[in-house]
Amino acid sequence: MAVRDVYQRPLRNLRISVTDRCNLRCSYCMPEEDYVWLPREQILDFEEISSLADVFMELGVDKIRLTGGEPLLRRDLPALIRLLAAKPKLNDLALTTNGVLLGEQARPMGAAGLHRVTVSLDTLRPERFTALTRRANHAQVLAGIAALAPAGFTGTKLDTVVMRNVNDDELPELIEYGRTVPAEVRFIEYMDVGGATRWSTDKVVSRAAMLETLERRYGRIEPVVEESTAPADRYRLADGTIFGIISSTTEPFCGSCDRSRLTADGVFYLCLYAQQGVDLRGPLRRGASRDELAAVITGAWSRRADRGAEERLRLRDRAPLVQIGRLREDPHLEMHTRGG
Ligand code: SAM
Ligand code: SF4
Ligand code: SF4
Repeated sequence: MAVRDVYQRPLRNLRISVTDRCNLRCSYCMPEEDYVWLPREQILDFEEISSLADVFMELGVDKIRLTGGEPLLRRDLPALIRLLAAKPKLNDLALTTNGVLLGEQARPMGAAGLHRVTVSLDTLRPERFTALTRRANHAQVLAGIAALAPAGFTGTKLDTVVMRNVNDDELPELIEYGRTVPAEVRFIEYMDVGGATRWSTDKVVSRAAMLETLERRYGRIEPVVEESTAPADRYRLADGTIFGIISSTTEPFCGSCDRSRLTADGVFYLCLYAQQGVDLRGPLRRGASRDELAAVITGAWSRRADRGAEERLRLRDRAPLVQIGRLREDPHLEMHTRGG
């Protein structure tokens, strides 16, 4: 039975973070030198994740995305994929990765039953990648993306966080690259959440500005008309190429949001911007039944009134949502813990 929140939004999408660790240090997500990590003994094992997924699916979830941190750092991830892919109620099993380890893992993940992969790729320039991520893995990421089609994956997406004077001159190149993969490129507005402690409004490139740039290059761009709760609005170039824009910062889409998040240590967040979550690990490890866990999740979702990004939009002097001191006190507030 699908559970609905106070705005009648169903719970359909669950993003499961499988680790808070990452092998990159993107400037918009992990700009600091050191981090407070979740204690290892609190990280859910695959059986625990699978049991929680069963409860979520009884309540209406039919789409799961594995994320992190960097999900491919989680040992034996294909074993989790196998467990989840076997669930009859699951319509979509996707993964978001930075691509560094994809070259070696695309095939085993495909064989385990993963449906789709989204790779985060902010630049096609190696030196820019190194400056942005503080790691020199650009060639590995491109090799990882190239490994997807031979491993049988279709429906690949490439996600690019667009930042002013950082990579906003690369939009057409990224679209051209996407065609060769093939993959649909989605441009994401820079958000003021989690570890984005260096965020400021002047670094945001709005959807409107992106479209203007792309129209200068490609001429008329048509919106793709479709019914969807997906975060990206899709557009079509004259030659038929489709790309997306996720305008979370300047034109948020909370009204149709059916997404929620489970951290690697089993805390359930009802909004990307939520400051508080609901602990599911505690009851799970104390032996709560499926019905008891379902009651906890239903109780939380049916009271959900979150519209985080819309509330942020109404602020006048907008600055990063959370300051570094609070992030250190509670790493659950980090984007790399919550999974994006
Ligand atoms: N490490 C994996 C990756 O980068 O794809 C998965 C986790 S990462 C937190 C998920 C997504 O969040 C990435 O596409 C990343 O670009 C996005 N993200 C992180 N911080 C962001 C920010 N401040 N604004 C917009 N997107 C952000
Ligand atoms: Fe970058 Fe993803 Fe790692 Fe964040 S979690 S630093 S977005 S690769
Ligand atoms: Fe959904 Fe919260 Fe994002 Fe709005 S801000 S789209 S409610 S997760």
